[in-house]
Amino acid sequence: MAFTDRDGTLNPDFHYLRDPDRIEILPGVTRGISLLREHGYAVVCVTNQSGIARGIYTHETVRAIHDEIQRRLARGGTKIDAFYYCPHQPSDSCDCRKPKPGMFLQAAREMGLEFAGGAILGDRALDVAVGRELGLVTCHIPERGRETSARAELDAERLVPDIVAESYLGAVTRLLYRG
Ligand SMILES: [Mg+2]
Ligand SMILES: [Zn+2]
Repeated sequence: MAFTDRDGTLNPDFHYLRDPDRIEILPGVTRGISLLREHGYAVVCVTNQSGIARGIYTHETVRAIHDEIQRRLARGGTKIDAFYYCPHQPSDSCDCRKPKPGMFLQAAREMGLEFAGGAILGDRALDVAVGRELGLVTCHIPERGRETSARAELDAERLVPDIVAESYLGAVTRLLYRG
């Protein structure tokens, strides 16, 4: 299974995005997801959405955004197999907010899939951290314009991703054809 982050990875990270009409799919994402699925990966989106706990938006907002992402991917002939989101904020001390592995464990259990041979694609150190903990191939795709802060965040936690790429498609290609 291939886990994928949402904000900053599938779409630009507009903080606390509320409006599905503002969703844009980043370059290379549709083709990358399509390639992953052609190669037998289930593609599972795992995303922290603390805007719910903070009262900025609702579960319905998050679901509407995920529906819109699916509509846009469908135009390119592909889709996300499942979405999991954490609605909590750090002070809730839940088990699902990344870098905790709760969403990943739940997805594997509910979908009957194994982590072995799996991967995570994301723009932040917490994506790399949870992937490392679960034995996934870690693919880091810093958001354009935020490469320096993304690198600093990794260095601070002494995290070295297996793959670093400039685009989603670049990461997928290297994941699928790595030696
Ligand atoms: Mg992100
Ligand atoms: Zn949570």
